[in-house]
Amino acid sequence: MKYNAEYKLTHAPIALVPYPISRKTLERMIALTPLSNRLMLKVGQDREFLREQLEILTGSDDFVGNLLARISKGQTPPLELLISRNDFLPAATSPSLADFHPQQVEFNTISNSFAFLSRQVCQLHRYLYSNDSPESKPIANDPLEKTVEAMAEAIRHYDYPGSCMLMVVQSREQNLFDQRAIEYRLFEKAEVPTIRMSLEEISEDGVLKDGHLVLKGRVVSLCYFRAGYTPDDYPTPQAWKGRELIEASSSVKAPSIGMQLAGAKKIQQALCKPEILRRYLSTKEIDQIKDTFVGLYTLDELVDGRPADRMAYESPSGYVLKPQREGGGNNLYDGEMLEKLRSMTAEQRHAYILMERITAPSQPAILVVDGTSTETACVSEIGRYGVCFFNGEDIAFNRDAGYLVRTKAADQNEGGVCAGYACLNSLRLV
Ligand code: ADP
Ligand code: MG
Repeated sequence: MKYNAEYKLTHAPIALVPYPISRKTLERMIALTPLSNRLMLKVGQDREFLREQLEILTGSDDFVGNLLARISKGQTPPLELLISRNDFLPAATSPSLADFHPQQVEFNTISNSFAFLSRQVCQLHRYLYSNDSPESKPIANDPLEKTVEAMAEAIRHYDYPGSCMLMVVQSREQNLFDQRAIEYRLFEKAEVPTIRMSLEEISEDGVLKDGHLVLKGRVVSLCYFRAGYTPDDYPTPQAWKGRELIEASSSVKAPSIGMQLAGAKKIQQALCKPEILRRYLSTKEIDQIKDTFVGLYTLDELVDGRPADRMAYESPSGYVLKPQREGGGNNLYDGEMLEKLRSMTAEQRHAYILMERITAPSQPAILVVDGTSTETACVSEIGRYGVCFFNGEDIAFNRDAGYLVRTKAADQNEGGVCAGYACLNSLRLV
C-alpha cells in the first residue's frame, strides 16, 4: 500500500509481466554491487575530491553548498552504513531482451525506497505464476530482510545497550508502509525500536552526550535517512541544525553527508573518466565497471573538439539534462532541456550535467494502477540494492541485497513509483 498524491490510501502500482533476464546478466549485475559500493565508500570519504568537484557549483546550487559546508570535519571517516541502489536500464542494442547490457542510470546513496514493496510484489508474482516450472518463476527477492540484517549488524557493532534507530522522515510520507516494514522487522529481529523524526524535530529534541546522539532519552546507534535528500526537507535553519547534530555524533550514519554527496550526479559524471576512476579502482575493476557507463558531460566540456551542449542542441532526443537533485521529476528532456540550456547563465550551467539518453527495448506489459489495468508497450529499469558497512577501520561487510524492477510506459521519461510514473515488477530467469 501507499498514499497517493491526494493522500488517499491505494495499492502500490504493479506490473504483471516479470522482466526476463539471463543468468549471465543477472550474475554480472550482482557482481557489480560490492564493487560499486566500495568505489562509492572511497569517494564519500575523499573530502578533497568532493570539494574539488562540487565547489564550482555551490554558487548556483545552495543545497549542495549547504551540504558540502557541513561534511564532518573529524580526523577519521565516520561509521557508515551504505544502503545503496544501483539503477540500470537495459541497452536496446543488447543481443536479446534477457541477455542485456546494463547501463547505469544512477547510483543512489541515500533514502532508497521499495525494499519492502518489491519483496511483496515478487511474492505476489511467485504466487500468480506458481503453476510455471520452478526455473521460470520470478527470482526470489528479499531486500527488506537484507537491509534489516545489515542495520542490525551495524547496531550490534555500535554496541550500546538499549539504543534505538532514528529514521529521518518527511512529515507527509506517501511511501509510509515501505518504511514501517523496516521498523517492524528491525524490532522483531533485533529488539531495536525506531524513532521517526523530521530534521526539525531532531534539532529540537536531540542532544549530544559523550558523542552519542540522544533523542527522547535514548542513545541513537543508527541514523537512517528516508528524508534529507531534497531542499524541501530543510525548510528552516533548524532543520540544518538537525542534520549537523547527526553528522557531529558518533552514531552510524546511513549515510553521512560525504556519502550522500558521492551520489550526486556531478560526481557520477566525474567518475565516468578513467583517470578519475584510477584513483579508486584497479585496472581490472575499471574494466568490469566502465561499460555500464554511458556518456556523461559537463556542459562546457569538449567532446571530440566540440562543446557538449552543442551535441544536445543538435540531437536533443539523445540527451537528458540533470540538476543535482534526487527524488524524481527534476530532469529535463527535449524542448524543456533546450529551453533551459538557452536560458541559463554561465554560473547556473555548472549545476547541471548532460547525460546520454539510454534507449531501452520495449515489450508489452500489463500495468495495474489504482485498481485499473492497462496493457501497453513498456520499458523496465532494474536496480540492485547493496549494503556495505564501514566500521571506522575496515569494510566489515559488503554485499548485494536484492533487486527492484520498475516498469513504465515506453513513452514516459521519468521513473518514479510514488509519483505514479512506474509500476513495481519482478525478474524472471530465462
Ligand atoms: P532521480 O535522482 O530523480 O531518481 P534519475 O537520474 O534516476 O534521477 O532519473 C530519473 C528517471 O529518469 C530514471 O529512473 C529513468 O527512468 C530516467 N532516466 C534518467 N537518466 C536517463 C537516461 N540517461 N536515459 C534514459 N532515461 C533516463
Ligand atoms: Mg533515480
